[in-house]
This record gives sequence, C-alpha cells and structure tokens, in this order.
Amino acid sequence: MNRYLRKILNWIGNWRGFSKCFLCGDSWMWKKAYHTIRVSDTRGIFPYCEECAQTRTLQEKLDAAKALSIEWAKLGSPESLQFWDNVASIIREES
Ligand SMILES: [Zn+2]
Repeated sequence: MNRYLRKILNWIGNWRGFSKCFLCGDSWMWKKAYHTIRVSDTRGIFPYCEECAQTRTLQEKLDAAKALSIEWAKLGSPESLQFWDNVASIIREES
C-alpha cells in the first residue's frame, strides 16, 4: 500500500479510537490482526498484524506482546501480566 494512504488511514483509525499493531503501527480500523492468541477461556491478546506475523522475528513478536501486556496492566488490567508466560510460549510455538 502507498505509504501516504497508509498514514492517512492510520491517522483516521487513531482519531476514531482504534488501537494498532505494536510492530508496524497500522490501525485495526483497516489492518487485519493476526489471530487472537488465547491465553485463557476469557482472555486473548492480539499484539501484531498478519503481515508482521509473517515478516518479523520471534524476538520482535515477543517484545510486542510484552509491551501490549504492560500497557494493558497500566490501563487497569494488572492480570494481563499473569498470562505472560502463557503468551510467550504460544508465540514461540507458532514461530
Ligand atoms: Zn503490523
């Protein structure tokens, strides 16, 4: 996709309150997230998009998932970090 169009779409997505891929910054308004990584019956995490799932290194994916878990914990969901080991092992298995 053209990088200017991408910028505009991300700007609109941000303005509309969509969150984004932790690796490339593309908005969930238009970019497809990689499948939700289920960590329990009621919780899942979607730290990066399908494109990044294909192109980024394992370490980058782990860093993104960790950053998202920390952000959720800061936003009032401290249990997010309890699932970290689970998240990391699923990401390792998938890579
Ligand atoms: Zn991405």
